[in-house]
Amino acid sequence: MNKPVIAANWKMNMTKKTAGILLRKINESVSITSEVIIIPPFTLLDMAYEILDNKIKLGAQNCYWKKSGAFTGEISPQMLVDIGCKYVIIGHSERRHIFGESDALLHKKLIAAIDAGLTPIYCVGETLEEKRKGKREFVLNRQLDTINGISSLIVAYEPVWAIGTGVAADIATIRETIELIKLKLKEKSVDATVLYGGSVKPDNSKEIAKQHIIDGVLVGGASLDAESFLKIIDSFKR
Ligand code: PEP
Repeated sequence: MNKPVIAANWKMNMTKKTAGILLRKINESVSITSEVIIIPPFTLLDMAYEILDNKIKLGAQNCYWKKSGAFTGEISPQMLVDIGCKYVIIGHSERRHIFGESDALLHKKLIAAIDAGLTPIYCVGETLEEKRKGKREFVLNRQLDTINGISSLIVAYEPVWAIGTGVAADIATIRETIELIKLKLKEKSVDATVLYGGSVKPDNSKEIAKQHIIDGVLVGGASLDAESFLKIIDSFKR
């Protein structure tokens, strides 16, 4: 993907009322030079699809790997396509660490998402403990090995210690890690757009956007506020 990608992960936030206000503000004010993706909770996907022009794309935060059947509480990639999604987050650190999703399960989800016609936004990144032990590269290699039988996707480098903490990784670390990820994926003949995620805010997004090796950002907290999110989008007019 040549355009920068700016994805908003709303996590388990927003009601119909608050989401409606936010979506309308974004839809009215955004001037698009990037691929902007809104990723609300499942309950708000339908409403987001109705409100957003098709210049803004829709994604989901998770999916199961089966098409249909007796899997109470799960949502299939086909259901996401049916409701207008183009993207799906797979392997967010909250899914890995709170819900115990394994690399083997994530591999199945990646394949299922692609088979259904979705572009996965596959999250990778080390925990604080892994960082302290100097295991970043080892962990990333293991997580990237999950990408098998896939020729194209979006990868988000999201160091777990930077998510929701207000402390983003420094530019040198982001550059170095994204270079590493791109190299590894090139060796595997995977065409990847690689984003950074972790405490991206209007006051650091300009510096991030200046680095052309970074293909865009995955934004959590700051995407819940229209003004902040629109400023981040503006930073990427590069
Ligand atoms: C995220 O949840 O993917 C994320 C990057 O969150 P935040 O921007 O709040 O750190």
